[in-house]
Amino acid sequence: MNSNFAESRKGYKGSLLTCLNQIGYVSIPSIMNLSYWEYKTWLSNIDFTVVGSGIVGLNCALQLKNKFPKAKIVVLEKGLLPQGASTKNAGFACFGSISEILSDLKTHSEEEVLQLVQNRWDGINALREILGDSVLDLQLHGGHELFLNADKALYEKCISELDIANELLHPIFGDDAFELSPNNFKFRGIEQNYISHRFEGQIDTGKMMQGLLKKVQSEGITILNGVMVKAFQDNTNAVAIETNAFSFSSKKLCIAVNGFSGDLIREKVKPARAQVIITKPIINLAIKGTFHVQEGYYYFRNIDNRILLGGGRNLDFETEETTEFGTTKLVQDKLANLLKEVILSDTPFEIDYAWSGVMGVGKQKKPIVKLLSNNVACGVRLGGMGIAIGTTVGRQLAITFE
Ligand SMILES: Cc1cc2nc3c(=O)[nH]c(=O)nc-3n(C[C@H](O)[C@H](O)[C@H](O)COP(=O)(O)OP(=O)(O)OC[C@H]3O[C@@H](n4cnc5c(N)ncnc54)[C@H](O)[C@@H]3O)c2cc1C
Repeated sequence: MNSNFAESRKGYKGSLLTCLNQIGYVSIPSIMNLSYWEYKTWLSNIDFTVVGSGIVGLNCALQLKNKFPKAKIVVLEKGLLPQGASTKNAGFACFGSISEILSDLKTHSEEEVLQLVQNRWDGINALREILGDSVLDLQLHGGHELFLNADKALYEKCISELDIANELLHPIFGDDAFELSPNNFKFRGIEQNYISHRFEGQIDTGKMMQGLLKKVQSEGITILNGVMVKAFQDNTNAVAIETNAFSFSSKKLCIAVNGFSGDLIREKVKPARAQVIITKPIINLAIKGTFHVQEGYYYFRNIDNRILLGGGRNLDFETEETTEFGTTKLVQDKLANLLKEVILSDTPFEIDYAWSGVMGVGKQKKPIVKLLSNNVACGVRLGGMGIAIGTTVGRQLAITFE
């Protein structure tokens, strides 16, 4: 019996699954008035059900199809579009800025830090292999960490330890990854140089997700949108699954819901909302690349002659520990201020709109990919690096049953 069984969670008034518990498995469609045809075609004899159509869920489904070409695979997604972090993010193809690497070295061994960065590098390469650089719209403009004047001490520490970081990461990049570069984009109120990562790039997040969705569909995998999994039960030879729309059974269940894990399973993953703003197009915008500020708590990039800027969770961690989408005045004001005072201080701009996404974070940076019971596995807690590691986490999730 699965100890993570969600029926026990607060507020759940079990109905069908209570009954399933007694009879062992689901055989009759329920809740929504499904026809014989609908049930037979879409919801019977399912080998694998994947919950969540983010980068992890879609890669998991692709890997399952690759390994089991004849398997019937269904992806369930509660949103009309994928609705977690994979369609809301900033699209950095990044491996860790200098201050992040040095900070990780305080809490992890050199081997562990090397492995974290290796995983990101491998993950980006795997994503590039699956979709190709033109589908991703990959731009290799490099990434840069900026240091506000108030962070001078951190700036000096990073410069003094630049060689250490380069030497450590040399086996991965085959060259020095970090270098000093001048303030070519004339940001205001920052230290003289950026510390740049030569191999960092940026993708078009929407194109990536559309590419993955197309690939999954072309492999004959069914994606059902607007279907939210509410509870499940591993009954040894099948998993009984209850959704907002119907109930059915599947031989295996793969859970890829990241920041929304708390609704379904009991693992050490917390939701972390991240807010983003985007400007209207700016004529002759010179800024190109990905930029990290204040140890990654703020990040911005160019896209379509606009600046996309996110961050500010550190202003109020408590409020941002939520699965609710939305924005707050505190964070939005800070983002607008950064644009005005630092990023576009000499350039007129207008903010076009704002949005938010939900990440899954924890004390440890390592994602959780594991079996929860014989037929149920999860791949969650991708932190702020899901573009980099999502492909390989999805693939690992698919092979946890072996
Ligand atoms: C604003 C922002 C900026 C970011 N920037 C970057 C970046 O630049 N680079 C980078 O590498 N990473 C970045 N990240 C992190 C990255 O986007 C995530 O780590 C990654 O997308 C996680 O992918 P996932 O598939 O695990 O989860 P998600 O993309 O969140 O997918 C989970 C899916 O499960 C669905 N779901 C949840 N519960 C249920 C349920 N009960 N039933 C059915 N469906 C359900 C959700 O709707 C969602 O579509 C950013 C994240 C945010 C929010």
